[in-house]
Amino acid sequence: MEQRESPSTKIEAGNAAMAGGRLTIDLAALAANHALLARRVAPAACAAVVKADAYGLGALRVAPALAAAGCRDFFVAHLAEALSLQPHLPSDARLYVLNGLQPGSERPCAEAGIVPVLNSLEQARRWCEAGRALGRPITAILQLDSGMSRLGFPPSEAEALATDESFRADVKLAYVMSHLACADHPGDNANAAQRARFEALAALFPSVPRSLANSGGAFLPADFHCDLVRPGVALYGAAPNDAGPNPMRPVVQLEARVIQVRTIPAGTGVGYGLTFKADREARIATIAVGYADGWLRSLGNRGAAYFNGVRLPIAGRVSMDSITLDVTALPEGALGLGDWVELIGPNQTLDQVAADAGTISYEILTSLGPRYHRIYRGAATSSH
Ligand SMILES: *Cc1c(COP(=O)(O)O)cnc(C)c1O
Repeated sequence: MEQRESPSTKIEAGNAAMAGGRLTIDLAALAANHALLARRVAPAACAAVVKADAYGLGALRVAPALAAAGCRDFFVAHLAEALSLQPHLPSDARLYVLNGLQPGSERPCAEAGIVPVLNSLEQARRWCEAGRALGRPITAILQLDSGMSRLGFPPSEAEALATDESFRADVKLAYVMSHLACADHPGDNANAAQRARFEALAALFPSVPRSLANSGGAFLPADFHCDLVRPGVALYGAAPNDAGPNPMRPVVQLEARVIQVRTIPAGTGVGYGLTFKADREARIATIAVGYADGWLRSLGNRGAAYFNGVRLPIAGRVSMDSITLDVTALPEGALGLGDWVELIGPNQTLDQVAADAGTISYEILTSLGPRYHRIYRGAATSSH
């Protein structure tokens, strides 16, 4: 029996007045970050990695803004992501699928002109066949495993492919690529070791352009940049490495709505498990964001929100739909029902939140939930 398209199962986020959280995405800052990276890696080209819905920020808004800013190379993880993004991009934009070529997906991939990153001999063989079936040359990226042991051809398979005449005849290689395991630690010797191994393997495919660097790699020396750099997280404002001040502009601002404020006597417990106990009379504000919105439970009794520049520590555990803050540092009556507190913004960076949560900025971004009211501002218009 034919399976029917499933209807939408999502409850709508509602309008600004209904939302418990407000997520503002600055597309001008996004474009500025792409421009900064593009200048840094020139003459290499600067792609954009927009997998996982552009790291949770909305690929259908983010990718066209980057295209308007001059970007033409877009990487996603899944073919389905590429197919849904394609109608929103200029016709000369190129879409690449990092996770490779799933069995059965050759035809839709080839017909749409989407470029798979081939990760094994078996995928290469199937892509060759798809090209022959289509009766025209077909393009691919070849991923070489330079030491991360995650995806890509091991050296023996790369050598076998390099001498495969029919592959060389049927498939046009746009790039050979690899991925760095430690690019966020510029001082790590693993970076140079991976670059050397990549160069040796890439030499099997002479005159094919090369791509090695992600965000962190863009801030490594120029011999890591090759022909195409593939930044993701730095575009979205996160620090590309652990080596000092973050050169990127913040893209994300997140605010949560206050839904109740109360005063509690000394000795009163707060939240599930009563893990916070007021050591003096305290004022507690409850905000309408919780772990279901991606505000991780690990932030319980660790993270904070800000109001008028004042740090308001999270008191007790993070609940599914709400968080309790100790707002005693604010004058009485300063914070009330309907006010907005800052979760990510000028007082608290994305990277700070990630550090408090014991994770990385990538996980904070990709966890941002569907219930926020999303505001896109500063749509890019100029190109660089
Ligand atoms: C996700 C990914 C990137 C982008 O990495 P960032 O660290 O976000 O810049 C680049 N290349 C590959 C293969 C990836 O999987």
